[in-house]
Amino acid sequence: MLSTLNIGQLGNLSKRQKSKDMVPLKHINLIDIENLSEINPCFLLNFKVKSQTKDEFYSINLQLYTDDIIKITSKCKVECNCKDFIFRCSYELWKRNTLVSNYEYIKPPKKSSGISVCYHVYSVIKYVQLIGTITELKKTIK
Ligand SMILES: [Zn+2]
Repeated sequence: MLSTLNIGQLGNLSKRQKSKDMVPLKHINLIDIENLSEINPCFLLNFKVKSQTKDEFYSINLQLYTDDIIKITSKCKVECNCKDFIFRCSYELWKRNTLVSNYEYIKPPKKSSGISVCYHVYSVIKYVQLIGTITELKKTIK
C-alpha cells in the first residue's frame, strides 16, 4: 500500500488552483470534529457543503493526522458523497491509502484521469488550511 497523501499534496490535485475557485466560505459548514486518538493525534472532521448547481448538500469527511496546528505535511484522508468523487476520484485515492472509508465496491474508472479530488473536497482542504488549527476550527462548528 502506498503512503497516505498529505494536505499539501491534496490541495494541489485539483485543476482549480486559485482561491477564487473555492466554494464560497458561507457554503462550507463544519458540523463536527471527533478526536479519534489521544496517543497519535488524529481528528475526523465532518463538513456539509452546499452544491453550487443544485439545491442540495454534500457530506465531506476529512481524517486529519495532526496535533493542533495543521501543516502542509499533515497526512489526510478524504471522502465526499458526490458522484464526481465516487466515480472519478475514489479509486486512485483508495490506492494511495487516502480514502476515509474502505469501500468494497470501488472499481477503476473507465477513463482514469490520475489522482484528483472533487470541487467540494478541494474547497474543504483550502478552508482547513485557511483556519489553520483544530482549536480555531472548533469555534466554526455550526
Ligand atoms: Zn464532492
